[in-house]
Formats: sequence, structure tokens, C-alpha cells
Amino acid sequence: MYDMKALYEAGSVEEAIALRLAHPEAQIIAGGSDVLVQMREGKRAGKELISIYGIDALRGVTIDEEENIRIGSLTSFSHITKDPIIQRYCNVLGQAVDQVGSPQIRNIGTIGGNTCNGVTSADSASTLHAWEAIVELTGKNGVRRLPIHDFYIKAGTVDIRAEEGEIQTAILIPKASYENCYGHYIKYGLRNAMEIATLGCSVNVRLSPDKSTIERCRIAYGVAGPVPMRVPTAEAVANGAKPTEALVEAFGNAVIEDINPRDSWRASKAFRQHIAVEMAKRALRESIILAGGELA
Ligand SMILES: Cc1cc2nc3c(=O)[nH]c(=O)nc-3n(C[C@H](O)[C@H](O)[C@H](O)COP(=O)(O)OP(=O)(O)OC[C@H]3O[C@@H](n4cnc5c(N)ncnc54)[C@H](O)[C@@H]3O)c2cc1C
Repeated sequence: MYDMKALYEAGSVEEAIALRLAHPEAQIIAGGSDVLVQMREGKRAGKELISIYGIDALRGVTIDEEENIRIGSLTSFSHITKDPIIQRYCNVLGQAVDQVGSPQIRNIGTIGGNTCNGVTSADSASTLHAWEAIVELTGKNGVRRLPIHDFYIKAGTVDIRAEEGEIQTAILIPKASYENCYGHYIKYGLRNAMEIATLGCSVNVRLSPDKSTIERCRIAYGVAGPVPMRVPTAEAVANGAKPTEALVEAFGNAVIEDINPRDSWRASKAFRQHIAVEMAKRALRESIILAGGELA
């Protein structure tokens, strides 16, 4: 059924690293919802696979000793959506991954797979960018952490060093990134289920204690460029501003400065630019309301 040369199963991170060093051409497989589809299509036919799916230590959401939210790379989308830590501190991530594919895909698909595939339309990616997530990689030389922005090199390529036997072991959201922040994700797709995003937009804000000022605003898109991206010009418009309708308008209009969507069979560049503006406005309004603010 699947044209696979060999399947090696790792029971621990150390075993996964050793297998990767021993079989440098082999591909990592987690839930397999990308890998097996590609293999069946013949794109990865005849490959060796290293399954990390049995490494239970890579599952679950915790708060670590530095107060980061730590999401193990094998944590499934359904787990993330139902997790009490995510619901309390970063509910928007649970809502974003709840828009992936179908219930079956959300049960098998992992956050590690969704980021390691390097795909710009990945439903977790814009929210992880907007919350300044840190990617943790573990290899023969130990643990390496890098900002998610630096993890994405180009479309379909991320910074995982096969020659060092690396696998992604966790995604961290630092306390400074989630404390008192509230966000909203909008996925625009051609239909509601089993659909890859035509555009994804994630916004979050932290308001001043009296709710009169946006202390910090972050916005990121998927499919607005070859890799997921932040939009600094719009963020600069909102940072320190009063939450008003005029600000929301200016914020939406500013996103055009930084995004660079392309024409594809799903949508034209012009259409993506058009909806990007509207999605930014709606997601900012919703984030302000979730943070307890009011729009003047
Ligand atoms: C029908 C269908 C619908 C889908 N709909 C959506 C959707 O709406 N939104 C969306 O975002 N995605 C969607 N997907 C894509 C897919 O489900 C996700 O990208 C999922 O997160 C992949 O996770 P996985 O564990 O199955 O990854 P896998 O298929 O196992 O791996 C994906 C890639 O990541 C690498 N990898 C995985 N984990 C690690 C790790 N820990 N360390 C290093 N490398 C690793 C693999 O080598 C591979 O290159 C859909 C897929 C299908 C089949």
C-alpha cells in the first residue's frame, strides 16, 4: 500500500537522535497526516521513515520552571484545543488548531508536524508567530532554541539540522508573550471543513490596566507570503494607541505595507490583499473586546 523502504521506531528522544544519525536519508514521521499522504502520492516513495509517534514524553502541555507554556511536539490538535493551560492563557491557539481539516486529522495531526512541514497555510503558524513562540530542537549536541520567525527558512524548509540528528521536541510560549494577552484567529477558506487556508490572520493585544490603551499588539498571517509572517507596520500603528474605530481602520490599511501574497488557483493576490485588510480589522476588534476593552 505504501512504498516504504524501512520503518524505524524510536521509543525516546535519544533513540530518535541515534536513528537519525544512523539513517541520514530517513524522514521523521509523527502523526503521518502529511507524510503518508505524500508517500501515497508517490512523492516520497521508497523512503526510510523514523517514527517518533511512540515518544510519550513529547506529548502534553505544561508550564515549565521559567513559566513558559511548553507544548510537546507530539501534542495533537484536539489535545491543544481542550487543554486547560491553553484555554486559560492562549485560547486563540486552541481555536486556531480546531479549524484544521476534520476531527480525524485533529486527533492524529501534531503541532510539531504542522510547523516542521514549513507550510505557510498551517493553521497553527500565524498564531505561533503572533505569540512569539520559541521552537525547541534536540540533537546530538543538546537542546537549541530559536524564535519561530527564524525557524522558517523558506517555503517548505525549516531549520532542523539532520546532520546533528535533530528533532523538534517542543514549542514554548514565553510568559512575557502570553501574560494578559487576548487574541483572535480568522481562517478564510473556500469552504468550512477539510480546507487549507486561503489566508489566515491572528491578532492579539494587551491593554493597559484601565483598558484605555493598547499596550502591545501583534499580528501575523499565513499565506500572505511564502512563510508565515508578522506585520510590523500595522503593529506600530496599534502600539500605544487608544482602541477606537479610527485606529482599527488605520491598522487594517497598514497591513498592505508588509504582506506579499501571491496569485494561486485558490485566490488572486488582489483578493488576498483585500481580505487581509478586513481580517485584520475584525481580528483586532475581537481581540480588544476579549481583553475587556471597548471601541470608542
Ligand atoms: C485531509 C487533510 C486535511 C488537512 N487539513 C489541514 C488544515 O486545515 N490545516 C492545516 O494546517 N493542516 C492541514 N492538514 C495537514 C496536516 O494534518 C498537518 O500539517 C499536521 O499538523 C501534520 O502533523 P503530523 O503529525 O501528521 O505530521 P507528519 O505528517 O508526521 O509530518 C509532517 C512533516 O513534519 C516533519 N516532522 C513532524 N514532526 C516532527 C518533529 N517533531 N521533528 C522534526 N520533524 C518533524 C516530518 O518529517 C514531515 O516533514 C491536512 C491534512 C490532511 C491529510
